This record gives sequence, C-alpha cells and structure tokens, in this order.
Amino acid sequence: MSEKVLAALKVGPSTTELRELDLPPIPDDAALMKVEVAGVCGTDVSQYRLPLRGGPLVMGHENVGYLARVGRTFAAHNGLKEGDLVFLEHYLPCGHCEWDHIGEYRHCAATEWFYDPKAIRYGYTSTDIAPGLWGGFSHYVYLPLNAVLHKVPDGLTPEEAGVATPMSNGIQWALFDGGIGYASTVLIQGPGQQGLCCVMASKQAGADRVIVTGTSKDARRLEVAKAFGADDVIDVEKEQALARILDSTGGRGVDVVLDCTVGAGTAPTLLGIEA
Ligand SMILES: [Zn+2]
Ligand SMILES: [Zn+2]
Repeated sequence: MSEKVLAALKVGPSTTELRELDLPPIPDDAALMKVEVAGVCGTDVSQYRLPLRGGPLVMGHENVGYLARVGRTFAAHNGLKEGDLVFLEHYLPCGHCEWDHIGEYRHCAATEWFYDPKAIRYGYTSTDIAPGLWGGFSHYVYLPLNAVLHKVPDGLTPEEAGVATPMSNGIQWALFDGGIGYASTVLIQGPGQQGLCCVMASKQAGADRVIVTGTSKDARRLEVAKAFGADDVIDVEKEQALARILDSTGGRGVDVVLDCTVGAGTAPTLLGIEA
C-alpha cells in the first residue's frame, strides 16, 4: 500500500474536507516538499467562496518547507538537496517562452490556470492533474523540475520566509513601480499584509513620511503599521483623511499613493480630484 498524505481539500464553495491522498513516487527529475508554512492570501478568501472549476483542489500558494525527497536530476538542475529549507513560488513556468526569457514568468501560459484548466499554478490547480499535490494546505507538495524555488537564507525562520510573497509585492510596488526612495512622502491605503509590507519597504528605502489609512476595523493593523515605522495612521471613518494628510505633510501632500485596499480605490477622492 502506498504512503498517504493528509491534505485539506476544497470540495465545494467555502467547503473543506480533510482527506488522505496517495504519496506519489518521486521520479528522478522531481522532488517532494514537506510544508512548514502555508500563507493565506487575500485572493484565497475570494477564491474559497467560488464554485470548483474541476475536481477538488488543495489551496495554498505561499509555501515554505523542507525538501523531503529530491531526485538526482532535480538536485543537479536546481542546486538543492534533501533537508534544504525553501520558499516555493506559485508559478510553474514552461521555461522556454518569451515571458520566461525576460524573467516575467508569471505571465507564462503554462501557469495561467484561469484560462487553461491544464495549466498548473500552486494553490489553484485541481487534483484532476496528477499527482494532485498542488497546494500548501497539505503535509506535502509535489515539485516538478520547473518548480521555482528559493533557498531560505540561514538565520531566517520558516515563519519569516512565509511572508516572502507580500514582502516581494511591497518591494515591487513601493520601490520599482512607485519609485519611492530617499525623502519620499508616501500614502499607503489599506494596512493588510500587502500594505504593511509596503510600509517596511518604503521606510527601508529612506522615505521621509509614510502615512497609512484604514477603517475602524483596522485599528489593530494600524498599530502594527506604526510599529513597522509608519509616521502617521488615519482611520478614514473617524477622521478627515485629506485634511490629516495635508497636515502631516506640511500642506504639500504626498509624492506616491499605494492602493492596497481591495479595490476601494479611494485615492482620487482623498486627494480631492473627484471632490
Ligand atoms: Zn497570493
Ligand atoms: Zn513559459
């Protein structure tokens, strides 16, 4: 009898069942990761409510774990060995298309689960595609040769490595897209995990003033934003946000606005453009 893997399967809208799946044989060009940390992303919350598009699936796409079994070809190709602690990206790119060649493999068709039910993306692909271990809410995740892995640096815990995705977003949105740097003034809307990571990235880059807005239910998160270095936090349900922002910036306003809300898109209103 084959070994079993305990996995939390989404079997319908907002419905999870714990089931035992077969632990697959690991060929020479694959590996198996024992999950230590599986983050919950904002998209998980919305995806969880939707109907299945195929068979049940294992959700969880922000995964960190130890390599439990590593095939020889996989080890040679990826420079990894059993026991290594790794962060797994959720994309599974083909490796030879134009997007992959310019490093933007998130756009690779082979991992575009939304349009192609055969495309594999961790946390989104159903158990219809063997061996079915395509999500982090499970004891083990299956890794083909093209899995995108990052060895976790020594001294970093699995829990710390578990925020790699929102932290990467924070760096991309604040530094690369927003151009935030020394002496910038920044408004970050929404103190969720993405917004909080934008706070850290902005302060690390030398931003002079970081202001974070949220609603009354975000009170605790706004405290965390302050602990992470936010200079000012504003509850938009209790305070006049625009007046507070102008006050906080000596009447000058901010250089960059990062909208980390779930589509609330309040920036134009806040800045008086649509007033
Ligand atoms: Zn996500
Ligand atoms: Zn590709």
